[in-house]
Amino acid sequence: MTAATPIPTLTSAGDAAEVLAAGGLLGLPTETVYGLAADAHNLAAVRRVFQAKGRPIDHPLIVHLGGAGDLDEWARDVPAPLRELATANWPGPLTIVVPKREWVPPEITGGLDTVAIRVPGQDVAREVITRLGRLTGTSAALVAPSANLFGQVSPTTAEHVRVGLAGRLLPGDAVLDAGPARVGLESTIVAWIDGRLRVLRPGAVTIDGATSSQSGAPPPGIRAPGMLAAHYAPRARVIVVDDAGLGDLASRIGQPSPPAGRSVALLAPAGIATPAGWRRLGSPVDDAAYAEMLYASMRAADDAGAAAFVAVLPQSGPLRAAIADRLSRAAVGSAGSPDPGRPR
Ligand code: AMP
Ligand code: MG
Repeated sequence: MTAATPIPTLTSAGDAAEVLAAGGLLGLPTETVYGLAADAHNLAAVRRVFQAKGRPIDHPLIVHLGGAGDLDEWARDVPAPLRELATANWPGPLTIVVPKREWVPPEITGGLDTVAIRVPGQDVAREVITRLGRLTGTSAALVAPSANLFGQVSPTTAEHVRVGLAGRLLPGDAVLDAGPARVGLESTIVAWIDGRLRVLRPGAVTIDGATSSQSGAPPPGIRAPGMLAAHYAPRARVIVVDDAGLGDLASRIGQPSPPAGRSVALLAPAGIATPAGWRRLGSPVDDAAYAEMLYASMRAADDAGAAAFVAVLPQSGPLRAAIADRLSRAAVGSAGSPDPGRPR
């Protein structure tokens, strides 16, 4: 077997836009995580995003716009509460699910009559979109699911993309490196259902008065493919501890006894002690710092060959719910494994 050709790394938005204009796929830095972007008007490129990720084709993509002014090109009858949320939070980590225009293809929406839209808060991401528009002579848009294989941990650096998608991209594809993602968790997704705001996926933007559906089950009456209970999983068995009134952490969680030579990795807020023999991956001082390092910590646990990844939740902060959501999905994704550390 020959080694996969390395994915080229770019540092300028102009070069990145050229890749997209030529029908290539681009590892796109956003403030949430790195996306695998394609020109949303190029259906061949859009289809290749699904192939590269191994993503089921009925999982709808989020359309990324360069500015809120392009919203009505994609959406019709945008409910006023969603428009207000967009106005207040764009550019930023908020995705709204709105009725789609007739022309928007089923490849993007997973066959739904709604489309998910956001304007990313990362300046260079919007610059790429704007420059693509100049090259193609349209108001450009990108589809950009996370740049990882389906079911795996989302990338928060360009290096994660290069490693995770090695051998999955083609000549002409590239990754744009703009440093680590600032937020570290995927966007909040909100819809307007039966006259109420409904959070389909919690994220950095919290929404007062919205109903949330964080159980993994889609809310009644809505098909929301992609909201799988098992997701975002590292290979290590994930154990979530939702309480920092810690006595002896190791005995409280029924200390996983790793196979000889395998460690237990720990991510816990600063101030929580590391049990003897465990490998401390981080001591975030607040929920934002926790979110920023969560996915990189899962990867570090796997890189260290850890049998288990123990995560003590932050006690408070706006990102606590999103962190708990991702960790519970990671725990489901890693649960049934008879040998917790078995590579999958
Ligand atoms: P991501 O995988 O981070 O790109 O996020 C895409 C997710 O957004 C999908 O897997 C769905 O869960 C959600 N989504 C996208 N479009 C829609 C839609 N029209 N209705 C409901 N959920 C959607
Ligand atoms: Mg993803």
